[in-house]
Amino acid sequence: MQLYNTLTQKKEEFVPHEPGKVRMYTCGPTVYHFAHIGNLRTYIMEDMLEKSLRYLGYDVTRAMNITDVGHLSSDGDTGEDKMLSGAKREHKSVMEIAKFYTDAFFSDCEKLGIQKPEIVVPATGCIDTFIELVSALLDKGFAYLAGGNVYFDTSQLKTYYVFGNMEEEGLAVGVRESVEADGNKRNKSDFVLWFTKSKFDDQELKWESPWGLGYPGWHIECSGISIKYLGEYLDIHCGGIDNAFPHHTNEIAQSESYLGHPWCRYWFHVLHLNDARGKMSKSKGGFLTVSLLEEQGYDPMAYRFFCLQSHYRKPLAFSFENLDNAAAAYKKLVQRIAALKDDGKRDEAGAAPLRGSFRGALANDINTAQALTVLYDVLKADLPDGEKRALLAEFDGVLTLRLMEAAEKEAANAQPSGVDADEAAEIEVLIARRVEARKAKNWAEADAIRDALAARGVTLTDTPEGVKWSKK
Ligand code: AMP
Ligand code: ZN
Repeated sequence: MQLYNTLTQKKEEFVPHEPGKVRMYTCGPTVYHFAHIGNLRTYIMEDMLEKSLRYLGYDVTRAMNITDVGHLSSDGDTGEDKMLSGAKREHKSVMEIAKFYTDAFFSDCEKLGIQKPEIVVPATGCIDTFIELVSALLDKGFAYLAGGNVYFDTSQLKTYYVFGNMEEEGLAVGVRESVEADGNKRNKSDFVLWFTKSKFDDQELKWESPWGLGYPGWHIECSGISIKYLGEYLDIHCGGIDNAFPHHTNEIAQSESYLGHPWCRYWFHVLHLNDARGKMSKSKGGFLTVSLLEEQGYDPMAYRFFCLQSHYRKPLAFSFENLDNAAAAYKKLVQRIAALKDDGKRDEAGAAPLRGSFRGALANDINTAQALTVLYDVLKADLPDGEKRALLAEFDGVLTLRLMEAAEKEAANAQPSGVDADEAAEIEVLIARRVEARKAKNWAEADAIRDALAARGVTLTDTPEGVKWSKK
């Protein structure tokens, strides 16, 4: 399998530390607000990475943190804790909003077919581990105390900027967001491991530590949780590209100084979802969520399809026009699958090259766009319908577009037989008009349409999936 590695800036052959086993870590959400569809692009593509690895035969253990303390509004260690801002905004406690937005995150993941990692750990549940790491870093001379906080001393490292030119984008963010410099830092790139004196004094959650009552920095959370649950050698670390600097750069600095050897071999970064205003971001506000898309009538699967159409290493431009195109393509694909007969016929030999192309697409740095084209190749192939259905179901086990489920629904809602397409279209228009009339509480018009259809022998049934019709 070939994977692009941000650390070497090359596509490389993937070789895990232990043959056949993959230890994978994902930076989880900061739960002070709903995840936006940009965050979820990253989680969709990481889900594709995990499922591709499993499909290709690896045994994957994956851990993810939930950031519920220590992520300040600036990645440069200034500003307020994002969780505290969220709690103030909603007049609730930090733990209340953490629970609410963690649940909301996993509910969005469910809707988008993103599998929950087998290990999910809130940062507030691992404080002892962070204290142990910070103590060891102090003992080894990689950290210092200043003004009540513990800082990592980046001058102790041979190389701090490990992602090469990748830091530039992040640096720009860091510089823009760090409104005031921290006078305690010995070097500009030093960062906080443990706060007892932050720039704001009303932090809600604090713990006893050898350095006083305080709370961990955001970066130490991911090093601590990853080492505690996945061990000293990590195969793949994932996140959105904005995490490469400073967050992942700092994670590498801490973890390798603590462990005394190289830590994670492959760094998988997903490029951003951008809208007309640039990178979609929680702090800018005005972002889109899965619920908002649903309210506007979109199936969350259409958004997953939209994401899979592009490679994870390219920025993705969001617009409703682009989403509409993806939704239409998804619907058409489902309709084509719904038209396949369930004849149970198989052709293993004929299926093999298509399976090879699908595996090849995934093994080629998770090329999801290429993997989608194999679905169309299956539909066009000279194979019995039963084999096509079996292949599509197998591939969808990885893609998780819920194709077979959607096709079944589509088949159940398909136009009744014995009605020609023109008449069916005309009936659909009348039904849509009746739905509109009912929405506007125009009962007289709604009833008139129902009567007119009844006079033509068309019976309507209202169901949770919409109006169904049949003709005598
Ligand atoms: P956060 O909840 O802010 O900690 O971010 C959760 C994940 O979403 C991280 O991996 C970020 O790098 C990623 N992320 C943030 N904004 C975007 C975006 N516009 N597009 C893609 N991923 C993003
Ligand atoms: Zn992280």
